[in-house]
Amino acid sequence: MATAFRNFKMVGYVIYGRGSLHQLDAILAPNRKNSAPMIFLVDHFFKDHTLCNRIPLRDRDELIFADVTYEPKTTQVDSLALQLKEKYGTISGIIGIGGGSTLDLAKAVSLMMNNPGSSADYQGWDLVKQPGVYKVGIPTLSGTGAEVSRTTVLTGPTRKLGMNSDFTPFDQIVLDPELTQNAPANQRFYTGMDCYIHCIESLEGTFLNEFSKSYGEKALDLCRKVFVESNEWTTTSDDQLMMASYAGGMSIAYSQVGVAHAVSYGLSYLLGTKHGIGNCIVMNHLEEYYPAGVKEFKYMVEKNGISIPTGICAGLSEDDFTKMMDVSLGMKPLWENALGPNWQEIMTREKLRTLYEKL
Ligand code: NAD
Ligand code: ZN
Repeated sequence: MATAFRNFKMVGYVIYGRGSLHQLDAILAPNRKNSAPMIFLVDHFFKDHTLCNRIPLRDRDELIFADVTYEPKTTQVDSLALQLKEKYGTISGIIGIGGGSTLDLAKAVSLMMNNPGSSADYQGWDLVKQPGVYKVGIPTLSGTGAEVSRTTVLTGPTRKLGMNSDFTPFDQIVLDPELTQNAPANQRFYTGMDCYIHCIESLEGTFLNEFSKSYGEKALDLCRKVFVESNEWTTTSDDQLMMASYAGGMSIAYSQVGVAHAVSYGLSYLLGTKHGIGNCIVMNHLEEYYPAGVKEFKYMVEKNGISIPTGICAGLSEDDFTKMMDVSLGMKPLWENALGPNWQEIMTREKLRTLYEKL
């Protein structure tokens, strides 16, 4: 049987450069539809921040702050979309400005402006049937790759799963490294490590091919420049990490993530552990699967003076462990990429349980 190669949809337009945010007004202009407003969904971190003065609000445009205290939920997406539909009927587009959580919210709200029901109905693969409204992603943290991916990770009533579809990628992204300047060192590290871990999982995975490898190696090289070779954080570090995130996202687009992500999804579902830090907590204990990557990861943790929480599974009940393991083992493509087609024989429930107990 002939192999079925993935035919994947990419972001429409990309602009990169320090200060490129200045061009946003001009970029949006041809995408404005009559009097329908543009909605700027901005990470709540930027409330009262000078960034708000740089947002090109026109006519009926609205700036909404996204509460990203918790990672995005389907209920949050549904209520934002409903609010916009009730107020405006339709909108010209939505521009997400923030970390991965805000980018995912913007993508999901865009889709829910044109698709009926709840976003929970579309958690899965290729369930979205209609294109969303025009959407733009402007990252203010680097690492998740959410700016390039075809998913938006949402916690729903029964699962944490993305709306994976060809309609999910942004129509436009604005990569302006100036916007990541001054992010707190811990946050920058956790989100940056998401990218590092994407690279290790992609490069060490069984799904690897030259497409993924070329992006993965470049992203890994940039992560090393930032977290291993550099002795202080500079504007160049922001430039490099932003491109690492992009390339890391491109790498996993044509391969897959692996053990750290599969295990971290369980933590996040049960304990609400955030993606970046959750991946770090897991990666700290994955010597058996990624020996060289984990060694380097530990070096970066130490060099950058970061602390990784431990003991987060202490005191969990039998039921809790069962839930985490069910969520984790449900991520079949991740395990298959990491361990091969016979992954179930390698990652038994007992083995996974022992791993969770260590975290
Ligand atoms: P985040 O978006 O959750 O933000 C973390 C914190 O940093 C928040 O408190 C936020 O307000 C703050 N913040 C954002 N920008 C800042 C800045 N410049 N300075 C200071 N603080 C700032 O963090 P993240 O790690 O970028 O994203 C994680 C999210 O991305 C998760 O919800 C995860 O599920 C999602 N994700 C999505 C994909 C995808 O492909 N769609 C991939 C990986 C992760
Ligand atoms: Zn990730």
